[in-house]
Amino acid sequence: MTTPKGQPLRHREATWRYLREEVFDLLVIGGGINGAGVARDAVLRGMSVALIERGDFAIGTSSRSSKLIHGGVRYLEQGDIALVLEACRERDLLRTRIAPHIVRAQPFVFPLYEEDELSPWRLRAGLTLYDLLAGFRNVHAHRMLSREEVQRLEPALLADGLVGGAHYYDCWTDDARLTLETALAARSGGAAVLNHAEVVALEKDSAGRLAAARVRDRLSGRTTRVRARVFINTSGPWLDRVRRLDDAGAPPRLRLTKGVHAVFERRRVGNRHAVVIRGVDGRVMFVIPWQNHTLAGTTDTFYDDDPERVRADDEDIEYILSAVNRAFP
Ligand SMILES: Cc1cc2nc3c(=O)[nH]c(=O)nc-3n(C[C@H](O)[C@H](O)[C@H](O)COP(=O)(O)OP(=O)(O)OC[C@H]3O[C@@H](n4cnc5c(N)ncnc54)[C@H](O)[C@@H]3O)c2cc1C
Repeated sequence: MTTPKGQPLRHREATWRYLREEVFDLLVIGGGINGAGVARDAVLRGMSVALIERGDFAIGTSSRSSKLIHGGVRYLEQGDIALVLEACRERDLLRTRIAPHIVRAQPFVFPLYEEDELSPWRLRAGLTLYDLLAGFRNVHAHRMLSREEVQRLEPALLADGLVGGAHYYDCWTDDARLTLETALAARSGGAAVLNHAEVVALEKDSAGRLAAARVRDRLSGRTTRVRARVFINTSGPWLDRVRRLDDAGAPPRLRLTKGVHAVFERRRVGNRHAVVIRGVDGRVMFVIPWQNHTLAGTTDTFYDDDPERVRADDEDIEYILSAVNRAFP
Protein backbone atom coordinates (compact mmCIF):
# COMPACT_ATOMS: atom_id res chain seq x y z
CA MET A 1 0.00 0.00 0.00
CA THR A 2 1.32 3.44 -0.78
CA THR A 3 -0.03 6.51 0.87
CA PRO A 4 -0.35 9.59 -1.32
CA LYS A 5 2.05 12.28 -0.13
CA GLY A 6 0.45 15.01 1.88
CA GLN A 7 -2.30 12.82 3.32
CA PRO A 8 -1.97 12.31 7.04
CA LEU A 9 -2.22 8.73 8.25
CA ARG A 10 -4.77 9.24 10.97
CA HIS A 11 -5.30 5.78 12.31
CA ARG A 12 -2.80 3.55 14.04
CA GLU A 13 -3.84 0.55 11.91
CA ALA A 14 -3.28 2.45 8.64
CA THR A 15 0.10 3.68 9.88
CA TRP A 16 1.08 0.16 10.92
CA ARG A 17 0.16 -1.20 7.46
CA TYR A 18 2.05 1.60 5.73
CA LEU A 19 5.11 0.89 7.89
CA ARG A 20 4.98 -2.78 6.91
CA GLU A 21 4.59 -2.23 3.18
CA GLU A 22 6.58 0.87 2.20
CA VAL A 23 10.34 1.05 1.62
CA PHE A 24 11.04 4.45 3.19
CA ASP A 25 13.68 6.93 2.12
CA LEU A 26 14.28 7.62 5.80
CA LEU A 27 13.53 5.86 9.07
CA VAL A 28 13.94 8.14 12.08
CA ILE A 29 14.41 6.39 15.45
CA GLY A 30 13.27 8.52 18.40
CA GLY A 31 10.50 11.12 18.64
CA GLY A 32 12.13 13.89 20.66
CA ILE A 33 12.60 17.35 19.16
CA ASN A 34 15.49 16.19 16.96
CA GLY A 35 13.66 13.19 15.50
CA ALA A 36 10.44 15.14 14.99
CA GLY A 37 12.41 18.00 13.39
CA VAL A 38 14.34 15.68 11.05
CA ALA A 39 11.11 13.91 10.02
CA ARG A 40 9.29 17.19 9.34
CA ASP A 41 12.20 18.61 7.38
CA ALA A 42 12.66 15.46 5.28
CA VAL A 43 8.98 15.11 4.45
CA LEU A 44 8.84 18.76 3.37
CA ARG A 45 11.70 17.95 0.97
CA GLY A 46 9.59 15.22 -0.61
CA MET A 47 11.07 12.13 1.04
CA SER A 48 9.03 9.21 2.32
CA VAL A 49 9.63 9.13 6.06
CA ALA A 50 8.84 6.95 9.07
CA LEU A 51 9.21 8.30 12.62
CA ILE A 52 9.18 5.71 15.41
CA GLU A 53 8.98 6.64 19.10
CA ARG A 54 9.08 4.02 21.85
CA GLY A 55 7.12 6.07 24.40
CA ASP A 56 5.11 9.19 23.78
CA PHE A 57 6.55 12.09 21.80
CA ALA A 58 8.93 14.18 23.93
CA ILE A 59 8.94 11.59 26.74
CA GLY A 60 12.76 11.83 26.90
CA THR A 61 14.92 14.92 27.25
CA SER A 62 12.61 17.04 25.11
CA SER A 63 10.03 17.55 27.87
CA ARG A 64 12.63 18.15 30.59
CA SER A 65 14.46 21.18 29.24
CA SER A 66 14.65 24.69 30.69
CA LYS A 67 11.98 25.61 28.10
CA LEU A 68 14.27 28.17 26.48
CA ILE A 69 14.77 28.81 22.79
CA HIS A 70 18.00 30.65 23.27
CA GLY A 71 20.51 32.16 20.94
CA GLY A 72 23.28 30.65 23.05
CA VAL A 73 24.51 33.70 24.95
CA ARG A 74 26.66 31.32 27.03
CA TYR A 75 28.60 30.14 23.99
CA LEU A 76 29.87 33.69 23.49
CA GLU A 77 32.18 33.14 26.48
CA GLN A 78 33.64 30.15 24.62
CA GLY A 79 34.04 32.28 21.48
CA ASP A 80 31.76 30.04 19.37
CA ILE A 81 30.42 32.84 17.19
CA ALA A 82 29.21 30.53 14.36
CA LEU A 83 27.05 28.55 16.80
CA VAL A 84 25.52 31.70 18.31
CA LEU A 85 24.82 33.06 14.84
CA GLU A 86 23.02 29.87 13.82
CA ALA A 87 21.09 29.63 17.11
CA CYS A 88 19.94 33.27 16.82
CA ARG A 89 18.76 32.69 13.25
CA GLU A 90 16.83 29.54 14.21
CA ARG A 91 15.32 31.23 17.27
CA ASP A 92 14.11 34.06 15.06
CA LEU A 93 12.57 31.61 12.55
CA LEU A 94 10.73 29.76 15.32
CA ARG A 95 9.46 32.95 16.94
CA THR A 96 8.32 34.71 13.80
CA ARG A 97 7.41 31.98 11.28
CA ILE A 98 7.36 28.36 12.37
CA ALA A 99 5.78 28.46 15.83
CA PRO A 100 4.91 32.03 16.89
CA HIS A 101 1.97 30.67 18.93
CA ILE A 102 4.24 28.75 21.33
CA VAL A 103 7.58 30.56 21.12
CA ARG A 104 7.46 33.90 22.86
CA ALA A 105 9.87 36.55 24.05
CA GLN A 106 11.28 36.02 27.54
CA PRO A 107 12.89 38.97 29.32
CA PHE A 108 15.97 38.18 31.44
CA VAL A 109 17.59 40.14 34.23
CA PHE A 110 21.32 39.53 34.67
CA PRO A 111 22.38 41.05 38.02
CA LEU A 112 26.02 41.81 38.74
CA TYR A 113 27.61 41.71 42.20
CA GLU A 114 30.87 43.11 43.59
CA GLU A 115 32.29 39.58 43.91
CA ASP A 116 31.54 38.61 40.28
CA GLU A 117 34.48 38.05 37.96
CA LEU A 118 32.33 39.30 35.09
CA SER A 119 32.64 43.09 34.85
CA PRO A 120 29.84 45.37 33.59
CA TRP A 121 31.83 46.30 30.48
CA ARG A 122 32.36 42.64 29.53
CA LEU A 123 28.67 41.93 30.04
CA ARG A 124 27.82 44.95 27.89
CA ALA A 125 30.28 43.85 25.18
CA GLY A 126 28.87 40.29 25.21
CA LEU A 127 25.25 41.39 24.99
CA THR A 128 26.03 43.95 22.27
CA LEU A 129 27.62 41.15 20.26
CA TYR A 130 24.57 38.98 21.02
CA ASP A 131 22.24 41.67 19.60
CA LEU A 132 24.55 42.09 16.63
CA LEU A 133 24.63 38.36 15.85
CA ALA A 134 20.84 38.31 15.97
CA GLY A 135 20.99 40.99 13.25
CA PHE A 136 19.27 43.31 15.75
CA ARG A 137 16.20 41.10 15.36
CA ASN A 138 16.21 40.36 19.10
CA VAL A 139 12.82 41.31 20.49
CA HIS A 140 14.51 44.37 21.99
CA ALA A 141 18.16 45.22 22.22
CA HIS A 142 19.73 44.69 25.65
CA ARG A 143 19.88 47.51 28.18
CA MET A 144 22.41 47.98 30.99
CA LEU A 145 20.84 48.59 34.41
CA SER A 146 21.85 50.57 37.47
CA ARG A 147 21.61 48.94 40.89
CA GLU A 148 18.30 50.80 41.47
CA GLU A 149 16.87 49.62 38.16
CA VAL A 150 17.73 45.99 38.96
CA GLN A 151 16.01 46.38 42.33
CA ARG A 152 12.94 47.93 40.71
CA LEU A 153 12.67 45.03 38.24
CA GLU A 154 13.49 42.31 40.78
CA PRO A 155 12.74 43.59 44.30
CA ALA A 156 13.23 40.18 45.93
CA LEU A 157 16.84 39.78 44.69
CA LEU A 158 19.76 39.85 47.13
CA ALA A 159 20.69 43.53 47.52
CA ASP A 160 24.05 43.07 49.33
CA GLY A 161 26.89 43.72 46.92
CA LEU A 162 24.57 44.38 43.96
CA VAL A 163 26.23 46.83 41.56
CA GLY A 164 23.88 46.81 38.55
CA GLY A 165 23.15 44.45 35.71
CA ALA A 166 21.53 44.04 32.33
CA HIS A 167 18.15 43.34 30.79
CA TYR A 168 18.05 41.23 27.64
CA TYR A 169 15.73 38.90 25.74
CA ASP A 170 15.66 35.28 24.72
CA CYS A 171 12.64 33.09 24.01
CA TRP A 172 10.48 30.67 25.96
CA THR A 173 8.53 27.67 24.68
CA ASP A 174 6.46 24.72 25.78
CA ASP A 175 9.06 22.10 24.84
CA ALA A 176 6.79 19.03 24.82
CA ARG A 177 4.13 20.80 22.80
CA LEU A 178 6.66 22.09 20.28
CA THR A 179 7.90 18.51 19.83
CA LEU A 180 4.40 17.09 19.47
CA GLU A 181 3.38 19.77 16.97
CA THR A 182 6.54 19.13 14.96
CA ALA A 183 5.73 15.38 14.84
CA LEU A 184 2.15 16.19 13.81
CA ALA A 185 3.47 18.50 11.07
CA ALA A 186 5.61 15.60 9.79
CA ARG A 187 2.49 13.43 9.78
CA SER A 188 0.49 16.10 7.95
CA GLY A 189 3.21 16.07 5.30
CA GLY A 190 2.65 12.32 4.79
CA ALA A 191 5.16 10.73 7.20
CA ALA A 192 4.27 7.48 8.96
CA VAL A 193 4.48 8.62 12.57
CA LEU A 194 4.01 6.10 15.37
CA ASN A 195 4.45 6.40 19.11
CA HIS A 196 4.53 3.56 21.66
CA ALA A 197 6.52 1.63 19.07
CA GLU A 198 10.12 0.60 19.72
CA VAL A 199 12.93 -0.27 17.36
CA VAL A 200 14.12 -3.55 18.92
CA ALA A 201 16.48 -4.84 16.21
CA LEU A 202 18.23 -3.67 13.05
CA GLU A 203 18.79 -5.91 10.03
CA LYS A 204 21.38 -5.73 7.24
CA ASP A 205 21.13 -6.77 3.60
CA SER A 206 23.57 -9.13 1.86
CA ALA A 207 25.93 -6.20 1.18
CA GLY A 208 26.09 -5.45 4.91
CA ARG A 209 24.06 -2.24 4.69
CA LEU A 210 21.31 -1.46 7.16
CA ALA A 211 18.07 -2.38 5.43
CA ALA A 212 15.31 -2.80 7.98
CA ALA A 213 14.30 -2.24 11.57
CA ARG A 214 12.19 -4.56 13.63
CA VAL A 215 9.56 -2.48 15.38
CA ARG A 216 7.51 -3.66 18.35
CA ASP A 217 4.11 -2.11 19.02
CA ARG A 218 4.25 -1.60 22.79
CA LEU A 219 0.47 -1.35 23.04
CA SER A 220 -0.38 -4.66 21.36
CA GLY A 221 2.93 -6.54 21.51
CA ARG A 222 2.95 -7.30 17.75
CA THR A 223 6.10 -6.66 15.69
CA THR A 224 6.81 -5.75 12.09
CA ARG A 225 9.78 -5.15 9.81
CA VAL A 226 10.17 -1.60 8.49
CA ARG A 227 12.42 -1.18 5.45
CA ALA A 228 14.33 2.01 4.65
CA ARG A 229 17.26 3.26 2.61
CA VAL A 230 18.62 5.54 5.33
CA PHE A 231 18.32 5.29 9.13
CA ILE A 232 18.70 8.22 11.50
CA ASN A 233 19.38 7.63 15.17
CA THR A 234 17.82 10.50 17.14
CA SER A 235 17.36 8.54 20.34
CA GLY A 236 19.05 11.16 22.55
CA PRO A 237 20.55 9.59 25.68
CA TRP A 238 19.66 6.13 24.31
CA LEU A 239 21.88 6.74 21.26
CA ASP A 240 24.52 4.14 22.15
CA ARG A 241 21.89 1.56 23.01
CA VAL A 242 20.34 1.95 19.54
CA ARG A 243 23.80 1.88 17.90
CA ARG A 244 24.42 -1.48 19.60
CA LEU A 245 21.37 -2.93 17.84
CA ASP A 246 23.51 -2.52 14.71
CA ASP A 247 26.92 -3.35 16.20
CA ALA A 248 26.85 -5.06 19.59
CA GLY A 249 30.48 -4.12 20.25
CA ALA A 250 30.19 -0.42 19.32
CA PRO A 251 32.19 1.67 21.80
CA PRO A 252 30.19 4.42 23.55
CA ARG A 253 29.99 7.76 21.78
CA LEU A 254 28.26 9.57 24.62
CA ARG A 255 29.10 10.26 28.20
CA LEU A 256 25.79 11.16 29.76
CA THR A 257 25.27 14.10 32.06
CA LYS A 258 22.32 14.82 34.29
CA GLY A 259 20.62 18.21 34.49
CA VAL A 260 18.07 18.77 37.25
CA HIS A 261 15.52 21.53 37.78
CA ALA A 262 13.52 22.19 40.92
CA VAL A 263 10.05 23.69 40.60
CA PHE A 264 8.81 26.21 43.18
CA GLU A 265 5.65 28.21 43.65
CA ARG A 266 6.54 31.57 42.11
CA ARG A 267 5.53 33.57 45.19
CA ARG A 268 8.04 31.62 47.30
CA VAL A 269 10.93 32.72 45.11
CA GLY A 270 9.57 36.14 44.18
CA ASN A 271 11.19 36.50 40.74
CA ARG A 272 9.30 38.51 38.13
CA HIS A 273 11.46 37.76 35.09
CA ALA A 274 13.90 35.05 34.19
CA VAL A 275 16.96 35.81 36.29
CA VAL A 276 20.56 34.68 35.95
CA ILE A 277 21.85 33.36 39.29
CA ARG A 278 25.02 31.51 40.34
CA GLY A 279 25.55 28.12 41.93
CA VAL A 280 27.78 27.86 45.03
CA ASP A 281 30.61 26.98 42.63
CA GLY A 282 29.97 30.09 40.50
CA ARG A 283 28.20 28.22 37.66
CA VAL A 284 25.56 30.18 35.77
CA MET A 285 22.03 29.00 36.54
CA PHE A 286 18.58 30.39 35.85
CA VAL A 287 15.28 30.92 37.59
CA ILE A 288 12.61 30.96 34.92
CA PRO A 289 8.90 31.79 35.17
CA TRP A 290 6.88 28.72 34.24
CA GLN A 291 3.11 29.05 34.48
CA ASN A 292 2.51 30.07 38.14
CA HIS A 293 5.76 28.47 39.12
CA THR A 294 9.47 29.06 38.94
CA LEU A 295 11.79 26.57 37.32
CA ALA A 296 15.27 26.73 38.86
CA GLY A 297 18.33 24.95 37.56
CA THR A 298 20.17 23.29 36.24
CA THR A 299 22.72 21.00 37.79
CA ASP A 300 25.26 19.44 35.44
CA THR A 301 26.86 16.20 36.64
CA PHE A 302 28.06 13.03 34.95
CA TYR A 303 25.59 10.17 34.98
CA ASP A 304 26.57 6.61 34.12
CA ASP A 305 23.37 4.70 34.84
CA ASP A 306 20.33 3.83 32.71
CA PRO A 307 18.63 7.02 31.36
CA GLU A 308 15.28 5.52 32.36
CA ARG A 309 16.29 5.50 36.01
CA VAL A 310 17.53 9.09 36.19
CA ARG A 311 16.29 10.88 39.32
CA ALA A 312 17.04 14.08 41.21
CA ASP A 313 18.96 13.14 44.36
CA ASP A 314 19.39 15.05 47.63
CA GLU A 315 22.65 16.63 46.47
CA ASP A 316 20.99 18.00 43.32
CA ILE A 317 18.16 19.55 45.31
CA GLU A 318 20.56 20.95 47.91
CA TYR A 319 22.67 22.57 45.16
CA ILE A 320 19.64 24.26 43.58
CA LEU A 321 18.07 25.27 46.90
CA SER A 322 21.24 26.92 48.17
CA ALA A 323 21.62 28.92 44.93
CA VAL A 324 17.99 30.08 44.94
CA ASN A 325 17.99 30.87 48.68
CA ARG A 326 21.15 32.89 48.29
CA ALA A 327 19.90 34.87 45.26
CA PHE A 328 16.39 35.42 46.67
CA PRO A 329 16.87 35.54 50.47
C1 LIG B 1 18.20 20.01 32.26
C2 LIG B 1 18.18 20.32 30.80
C3 LIG B 1 17.83 21.59 30.36
C4 LIG B 1 17.83 21.89 29.01
N1 LIG B 1 17.41 23.11 28.62
C5 LIG B 1 17.34 23.41 27.31
C6 LIG B 1 16.79 24.62 26.88
O1 LIG B 1 16.32 25.42 27.68
N2 LIG B 1 16.75 24.88 25.56
C7 LIG B 1 17.22 23.97 24.65
O2 LIG B 1 17.16 24.25 23.44
N3 LIG B 1 17.74 22.78 25.03
C8 LIG B 1 17.79 22.48 26.33
N4 LIG B 1 18.27 21.27 26.73
C9 LIG B 1 18.72 20.33 25.72
C10 LIG B 1 17.51 19.69 25.03
O3 LIG B 1 16.53 19.34 25.98
C11 LIG B 1 17.98 18.45 24.28
O4 LIG B 1 19.07 18.81 23.46
C12 LIG B 1 16.90 17.87 23.40
O5 LIG B 1 15.69 17.69 24.10
C13 LIG B 1 17.39 16.55 22.84
O6 LIG B 1 16.37 16.03 22.04
P1 LIG B 1 16.52 14.64 21.32
O7 LIG B 1 15.38 14.52 20.38
O8 LIG B 1 17.89 14.50 20.78
O9 LIG B 1 16.44 13.56 22.51
P2 LIG B 1 15.18 13.07 23.38
O10 LIG B 1 14.19 14.14 23.60
O11 LIG B 1 15.73 12.42 24.60
O12 LIG B 1 14.49 12.02 22.43
C14 LIG B 1 14.99 10.73 22.19
C15 LIG B 1 13.79 9.82 22.02
O13 LIG B 1 14.21 8.56 21.51
C16 LIG B 1 13.31 7.60 22.00
N5 LIG B 1 13.92 6.27 21.85
C17 LIG B 1 14.99 5.77 22.50
N6 LIG B 1 15.24 4.51 22.08
C18 LIG B 1 14.32 4.22 21.14
C19 LIG B 1 14.05 3.06 20.35
N7 LIG B 1 14.80 1.95 20.44
N8 LIG B 1 13.00 3.09 19.48
C20 LIG B 1 12.22 4.20 19.37
N9 LIG B 1 12.43 5.31 20.10
C21 LIG B 1 13.47 5.33 20.97
C22 LIG B 1 13.10 8.02 23.46
O14 LIG B 1 11.91 7.48 24.02
C23 LIG B 1 13.08 9.54 23.33
O15 LIG B 1 11.76 10.06 23.27
C24 LIG B 1 18.24 20.92 28.07
C25 LIG B 1 18.57 19.63 28.50
C26 LIG B 1 18.52 19.33 29.85
C27 LIG B 1 18.86 17.92 30.30
